[in-house]
Amino acid sequence: MKTSKSITRAFCVELQQELSIVAARREYFSQEPPRARFSFLCSSEACRALGVKVTGVRYDVKPQENPAFVAAHFRANPNYEHHADCEWVDDTPQDAPPAEETESESALRKARRKLDDYIDVFDPSLKERGKPTPDTDKPDIPQAEEPAQPTPVSDTPKRNQPKETRTSNLERLVDSFRQAQTELSKEEFALLPLRVPGQGEVTLRSYFRHIKYAQVGDERRVLYGGGLVERFGTGFRFTFFDRLRGKRVTLYVSPAQMQAYRSSRYIAELLSHADEVKFFTLFALGTLAESPSGKSLSVEIEDLRHLAIVLGPAKDAPTL
Ligand SMILES: [Zn+2]
Repeated sequence: MKTSKSITRAFCVELQQELSIVAARREYFSQEPPRARFSFLCSSEACRALGVKVTGVRYDVKPQENPAFVAAHFRANPNYEHHADCEWVDDTPQDAPPAEETESESALRKARRKLDDYIDVFDPSLKERGKPTPDTDKPDIPQAEEPAQPTPVSDTPKRNQPKETRTSNLERLVDSFRQAQTELSKEEFALLPLRVPGQGEVTLRSYFRHIKYAQVGDERRVLYGGGLVERFGTGFRFTFFDRLRGKRVTLYVSPAQMQAYRSSRYIAELLSHADEVKFFTLFALGTLAESPSGKSLSVEIEDLRHLAIVLGPAKDAPTL
């Protein structure tokens, strides 16, 4: 059968695990060059048994601000038919609205369909995976990407099973946010809900706050903005372009923090393009704090997993 839903996870043959496209991108760029591309099979067991391949698109391109933004995503391979039980096959006619759908539910459903990957629940807790250590050789994806798959109840038709996409991978949430921002109308964008354990339901839009609107001591959310990076050995300091009440806002990552982080090679790879890009956009799930001297502000994060970096446009790219 053909798939009709956006495929948001696939089984990576080389890594022998299921992952999102964002996790695949991180793993791809964590390889020592020359990097090998991955092969993917459908995440549904029945399809995997049949060898149903899925195509990974643009996971070998670094996340970058680009006039023609195309999000990394999975795509069904036209040469393969999926099993009838496949989680990405939906036998509900695409445009038949579920019974008793309200107008706003319908608008939300239509907005979501425009996105490759939509996150219902973002769990920022770091507890399951413990402290990252340099000798953790097991990829942290399985726990990170834990799909919320309710145990199928045999007498429930497939379409009635609640399906929600849950992740604790900040970069994945960032990609989804960036795509929603680019591809949806303002009204549609404002509709998208996001559930955050411990904070309840918010809108995706309000969970992200541009640094120029950030406030000291605000509830933890994703602060973001453009800026430049200075390297200190393997560590770095990011300085936002926007000042707050005239004060400089920075985020500092020490060499020790970088060395202890499993995906530091991926971050270093992104930062190595500093000379070629106009700026970086940094997304940090953290809080804004005043420096002891009171002269500057810093964004404080608990863990590097709460940091995502996107390359700005190339220096030679035309300004829009
Ligand atoms: Zn399948």
